[in-house]
Amino acid sequence: MATFRQRALDEAASHQTGRYYLEEGPVSEYFGKNVLDLDKMQAYMSPQAYEAVLASVKFGAKLDRSVSDEIAEGMKTWAMEMGATHYTHLFHPLTDSTAEKHEAFVSVKEGKAFEKFKGSALVQQEPDASSFPNGGLRNTFEARGYSAWDPSSPVFIMDGTLCIPSVFVAYTGESLDTKAPNLKSMQALSEAATKVVNLFDESVSAVNVNLGIEQEYFLVDESLYNARPDLMLSGRTVIGHTSAKDQQLEDHYFGAIPSRVSSFMKDFETEAYKLGILLQTRHNEVAPNQFECAPVYCDATRAIDQNMMLMIVMQKVAEKHHLKVIFHEKPFDGVNGSGKHCNWSLVTDTGVQLLSPGKTPTKNLQFLSFYAAILKAMHKHHYLMMASVASLSNSYRLGGNEAPPSVMSVFSGSTLYRVFQSILNMKDVKVDSHTQESITIVNSLPEIFPDNTDRNRTSPFAFTGNRFEFRAVGSSQNVASATYIINSVVAESLNDFYDQVAELEATGVERSDAVMTIVRKFVAESKDIMFEGNGYSKEWEEESQARGLRAVKNVPEAYEVYHEEQTVELFSKLGVLAKNEIEARFEILNETYVKKLQIEARIIGDICLNHVIPAAVRYQNVLIENVKGIKDIFGEGYMDFCSAEIETLKKISTYINNVSVDVEELVEARKRANKIENIAERAKVYSHDVKDMMDKVRYSADQLEMIVDDEMWPLPKYRELLFF
Ligand code: ADP
Ligand code: MG
Repeated sequence: MATFRQRALDEAASHQTGRYYLEEGPVSEYFGKNVLDLDKMQAYMSPQAYEAVLASVKFGAKLDRSVSDEIAEGMKTWAMEMGATHYTHLFHPLTDSTAEKHEAFVSVKEGKAFEKFKGSALVQQEPDASSFPNGGLRNTFEARGYSAWDPSSPVFIMDGTLCIPSVFVAYTGESLDTKAPNLKSMQALSEAATKVVNLFDESVSAVNVNLGIEQEYFLVDESLYNARPDLMLSGRTVIGHTSAKDQQLEDHYFGAIPSRVSSFMKDFETEAYKLGILLQTRHNEVAPNQFECAPVYCDATRAIDQNMMLMIVMQKVAEKHHLKVIFHEKPFDGVNGSGKHCNWSLVTDTGVQLLSPGKTPTKNLQFLSFYAAILKAMHKHHYLMMASVASLSNSYRLGGNEAPPSVMSVFSGSTLYRVFQSILNMKDVKVDSHTQESITIVNSLPEIFPDNTDRNRTSPFAFTGNRFEFRAVGSSQNVASATYIINSVVAESLNDFYDQVAELEATGVERSDAVMTIVRKFVAESKDIMFEGNGYSKEWEEESQARGLRAVKNVPEAYEVYHEEQTVELFSKLGVLAKNEIEARFEILNETYVKKLQIEARIIGDICLNHVIPAAVRYQNVLIENVKGIKDIFGEGYMDFCSAEIETLKKISTYINNVSVDVEELVEARKRANKIENIAERAKVYSHDVKDMMDKVRYSADQLEMIVDDEMWPLPKYRELLFF
């Protein structure tokens, strides 16, 4: 066999199952060990300093410089006790990953070494990270970027470094990351939601977002991964024929976890527990070698930080197991892709889950108000919602017959759907005057609700009892970018809801009647977003179009939504993103799209020229020699004995020719596209011309994989990559 592949397979076979991260005692004993939470902090600083941190965490109060030195000192003491030598601000630049620049605590004065960590270093760090994408917001020579501590997320230790969760902003104040707009969107949402809750309950003064993030991923043996340049460089296989068996038998989903994988899972869970990440579920997913884990939900900022940390931890732990974790949305054609289901809910500072139907008519009215506002938000901004998850990698997954469709809809479950239908059909919306119809609807909710266990896996945005599950988010994405969009559209809609209720009330209508009227109005205006059927079906594709719902068919085209007036108004009114920040994001999204596609296009070209064609030519020569030999022996009548070889020769020669011609064309397509100055236009040309050529190249390369002698094929095949 081709030595490259053979060696990889031999190595893979030698990899053992084992546990490398073990902690003594039950999980509760080491849970959060590496995190400096508020409780622990108390022991390391004066009551005044602690109060300052608390005020900052709870109310976003600015930290006084006079206490920040003391807070930093306390953190350093704890970190050093834990064996840390460095600190870093950890931030989420606009690349879907995390960034860190480690600084040593150690310092020297008059020849004497000592450990130093000043308040100023805690609060702010200037990473001089001038090459992070900034969409033209920041010129390297004028406005530098700096990271600033976000006290709402606790500091922790990883790999001997004190990690300080931070935002990343330009000196001129613009956000250069996904975290700052997310924090702003939560503020806006809290204000809007509090106004609406206060219509029913005066005691609430803030509303928080909870997130539970389910993470799907693939595992591949490290040696096989290293033998696939495409997986290594782009996170997905750009060629590869489907395996004879993949997920048809559905024998992997929820099946027994292979022991090598289960050891890996236990190990990364141990490391995650130490970081205070409460992982709760683990199971096999639908595709072979695809798995999922989910933590218990918590406040959104922490959930997002933890998800980003979890991805890093999983990669690190995987190294010991000679495994690679693949977070790409569609690493393998023909089997399911991976998502990051985002379970989103609202909770008041008094602990009330606003998306749980209540037990009394007032609570139900409150629930319906929120639900109606969310429906309207999803309807109005349905295209933006889908654009929020649009990326090159996710585009290979969305709209396939296993992932959410590329058009937005909201699934409510039959009970709730019926409730909305009756609200729409209500003749009278009076609540207090005991109009039987409306009272029954509102009263009946809690009784019937518990039976509602519907799950619709074909909906991008499904209500699941006390939360919405946004299933379209890609597995490699930083959830923050989708979250700040959900938060913003809902905040805008709640503001609108409140204003309309207030307006009605001002005319003398009783509050509950006013609320019910606006609930009905909102539901009526957004009924087209509600869909209970099969989101994968052809009928829905047509139906959604007829309803005027726009599907994301092309990624760079979807990004144009950031230029639409209602999007700009949405973000700027709420103070989430200013116009130039939106523009910067638009640029970066397009730039990232082009760069990633460019890399993939290069990889497929290289693989074809350096791996596929040489292997195919070798086999072609074997066949030629064979035919020649047969001719030598049988003379004139040789064709009677080698028609099969001749047929194969014809095919192989055709495909070799196609691959080389198409690779040329692909290079040309790229060159033409690269000449286009405007990045958004370039991205569009890439999305058609370059992508189409890649598909063509792949088709012929995959045909060759089927024909060429298995012994000669240089790259690990799907059947080898996908099964342990
Ligand atoms: P499923 O795969 O059936 O959707 P999982 O158990 O895999 O369910 O994941 C559900 C996720 O939703 C978990 O992270 C869970 O903590 C989270 N979750 C549960 N309740 C809420 C809630 N009220 N708000 C946000 N997330 C929630
Ligand atoms: Mg799940």
